[in-house]
Formats: sequence, structure tokens, C-alpha cells
Amino acid sequence: SIAYLNGQFLPIEEAKVPALDRGFLFGDGVYEVVPVYAGKLFRFKQHIERLENSLRSIRLPLEQTLQNWADICHQLIKSNRLDNATIYLQITRGAYPERNHDFPSNPTPTIFAMISPLPEIQPQPSKEDLQGISAITAEDIRWQRCDIKAITLLANCLLKQQALECGANDTILVRNGVALEATSSNLFMVRDGVIITPPLSEHLLSGVTRDFVLWLAEQHGILTEQRSVPEHELLQADEIWLTSSTKEIRPVTRLNDVIIGDGTAGPVWRQMYDHYQQLKAQLYRG
Ligand code: PLP
Repeated sequence: SIAYLNGQFLPIEEAKVPALDRGFLFGDGVYEVVPVYAGKLFRFKQHIERLENSLRSIRLPLEQTLQNWADICHQLIKSNRLDNATIYLQITRGAYPERNHDFPSNPTPTIFAMISPLPEIQPQPSKEDLQGISAITAEDIRWQRCDIKAITLLANCLLKQQALECGANDTILVRNGVALEATSSNLFMVRDGVIITPPLSEHLLSGVTRDFVLWLAEQHGILTEQRSVPEHELLQADEIWLTSSTKEIRPVTRLNDVIIGDGTAGPVWRQMYDHYQQLKAQLYRG
């Protein structure tokens, strides 16, 4: 596929970064993942705003406008002839002659982007969708700034791998008895018809899908609440979902081997699935 690196479009195999890049040495960088439906960027402004927040948080100045980012993304869509895809954007603080923790005084960031195909989500949920996934809970061993979409994801990888080795699909992270999010998605639960998600803080990522799901629910008159979710309460939830740009809304039907609801995707999930797909279908038509 064709990727983008520092102003150039080139075959991904030829996209090479120096070993002295601070992304490689320190994990000193941030990223973003943007879904593409019908060749159109979905919630692009929100993704770029979050990217700008991440860059500001790590104090990495970048002269790049929303239009610049859109031009790069559209070129990737065109060159790779993909209609349903995810675009990955990454910025690191760049490469310098020595390995040195201090920030360089005049940073020359490394800017990278690539695109990969995304399986098209169907208007009707599949059998697997309805079956849901299984999750475990584990202590959140990540750092104190999970609101920054940093490329430093070792803790997330360890926690995800822990789930796989337990025969589950993902891990829901718990800090001080409170459930926050999963390794690469936000957390929702449903109790008595109300959609509940943990409030934004430095312990979780402000998900673009999280925000979209809250908005979509409100549009359809479904009650939502942003409040802290104790781990023990999750086990009593009627429904549990994980949300992200690539997974959309995914039901969790087993948590620590406890069956959630009736063990299949719940009715509120089903409603939200339909609303989500209807909104996407408008993109295809328009
Ligand atoms: N939380 C974490 C830790 C993530 O890595 C992600 C995204 O991959 C999300 C939440 C969901 O964010 P979004 O809905 O913007 O994709």
C-alpha cells in the first residue's frame, strides 16, 4: 500500500525512520486512528482536535492545519482505492544525533500516515456480533495520563495479551475499584435502560466514538449518565459495551466468566447498532 512519510507518498515498505527517532527510542509521540466510510472521513474534525490536544499535552508544536491532514488522508484513500478503511496518523518528536532525554530546542517531528482496509459493517448484525465478546478485569498498570493518545502502549499490550491468555478477548481496566475503559476502547454499561459511561479524566481516553454514542443516544431519547462505574457494579449490568472507531459498539457478554444479561447482545445495544448504521448509511447516500 501507499503510505505518507514527512511530505512524501511512497510504498509502505520504503517508509523508513532513523533508529535515532525518539518514537523508537522513547515512545515519544502521539497518534490517531480515523475511520473512512464510503471514501469519506468519519468525525474527522473531532479526531484532529484530539490529535492537537495530544500534541499540546506532550508540548510538541506542529504547523499542520485540519486541511493539511485532510489532504494527506484523501490522497491515501485515492492512491490505495479504499472506500472502507482506517487511517493511522503518527507524529513523533523526530530523530537527533544523540540519545538524550531532553527535548530538542527546534524539533523536526516525524509525520507518518498509513491506511488499511476495514471490513464493512453490515446493516444487520452478524451472528458473531450478537454473540458478543468476553472480557476480564485487571488492575490498570498504565500511567497517569491516559487522556493523551500516546504511542507508548506497552502496558496496553501486556493487558490485552493477559486477556488472550485467559481465553478472553479483552481486558477492562480497574483503578481503585473503579472500571475505566478497555485496552483500546471505551466502556459503557446499561442498567434499567440507562446508558452509563465513566466520566472523562486523565485515566481514560476521550473516545470520539464514546462521544458519538452519547450524542446518538440523546438524539433518540435514551437516557445517558456519565458517572464512575465500580467494578462490582459492572458484573450486575444488564449490558456492557466497548466502543472505538474501528470496532464501533461491541457487546461484552461474559465478564470474568460471569454471563452478562442473557449472554447475548442486549436490546439497547441492538437499538444503538441500528442508529449507528443508519447514520453511516446517510454517508453512503450523500
Ligand atoms: N480508549 C483507548 C485506550 C483507546 O486506545 C481507544 C482507541 O483506540 C479508545 C478508548 C476509543 O477511542 P475512539 O472511539 O476515539 O477510537
